[in-house]
Amino acid sequence: MAGASEIMSTISEAIRTINEAADHAVEVAQSISYKEDTLLVNQFENTIFEYAKVDSQLKEWEKVIEGYSQTLSDYQMRIDNDQQRINPHQDIHETILQDCLDSANKATENDLRAHPFIRQYQDAGFTIEDDMNDDLVTTQVHRSTTCPITKRDIVDPVKNIHCGHTYSHAAIIEIMNLNQKSGKKNRCPFGGCNEFVNENDLVPDSAMQVLIDKNQK
Ligand SMILES: [Zn+2]
Repeated sequence: MAGASEIMSTISEAIRTINEAADHAVEVAQSISYKEDTLLVNQFENTIFEYAKVDSQLKEWEKVIEGYSQTLSDYQMRIDNDQQRINPHQDIHETILQDCLDSANKATENDLRAHPFIRQYQDAGFTIEDDMNDDLVTTQVHRSTTCPITKRDIVDPVKNIHCGHTYSHAAIIEIMNLNQKSGKKNRCPFGGCNEFVNENDLVPDSAMQVLIDKNQK
């Protein structure tokens, strides 16, 4: 069986890949204009939602694995105190995994509409059909092309795969270098965001590049 760190790095790699794929998909949609073609747009919307779902699930699984030893000792304590029953046909690991995956999948479904891929897709000028009340979700949050670090137009945009925030490549690298010197952890410099950021978590944001190019015309 693969070790936890091996699984974690596989998941990280998968998250990177799915982020690049989603970014590329939005970029393609922006560069060709087929917004009048309803069938294509619907297929495209489904693709983006699928990517968002996979991305969210991977991140939830990452949390499950990271917190596993804590969860295990919590369960063990509750079992010892007779507060937790274990399915007699399953061992404790199976029970925990089942519980964690159930809640991870539930979290994924709930948060999908707020997912960065969906925001990015809407920022590109597409609307999302709201199945729940048959209304069109027309609220579009304007995606700022200003770098949260330099306060100028983003140059060489890179996106943090954990929170979806985008910065100028050179500026975020400089901040990380400064943090390293002072022994501080790297946090996303976007106001109100508390996610970590590492060099390995940055992927090119070509959809943002398209947006910047458009604005400069
Ligand atoms: Zn962030």
